[in-house]
Amino acid sequence: MIMKNEELEGTEVFWHLWPCYDMVQDKWVQVGMEVELDGSHSSDPNHIAPGCCQCRQLSGELERFAASVARRSLSGMENRLCCTVDVPRTAVVTSPRLGERWYVPVTITLKSRERERPEDADMTRALAQIKRALLERGFLER
Ligand SMILES: [Zn+2]
Repeated sequence: MIMKNEELEGTEVFWHLWPCYDMVQDKWVQVGMEVELDGSHSSDPNHIAPGCCQCRQLSGELERFAASVARRSLSGMENRLCCTVDVPRTAVVTSPRLGERWYVPVTITLKSRERERPEDADMTRALAQIKRALLERGFLER
């Protein structure tokens, strides 16, 4: 639950997977997977999250980490898959699913370049590499 990274010591990061859909010829089609990382540095539900320097720093660290994971996960498959990292506009979230803490979210979106076949072996391999990188870092699936 605690990050191994020194800069972010004391921080909790969880992640979860969502299927990712796009409108293809007027139909919603699954085109890939989204990994949402949610990081929190404070267990105080009253800490003023919007504008908090540590929340912003954590968001930046997570974004850089996610970008590096995204790049490595595609190694050799760049022509078949694409992987993007986003920091949602609502840079801080809290939700019942995550308890009373404030979290900063960062998402990694993994898509097949061939929209019709999102579940191919490349996708599975890239996703496994992303998961491994997250677990090695001490991030837990929630
Ligand atoms: Zn904060």
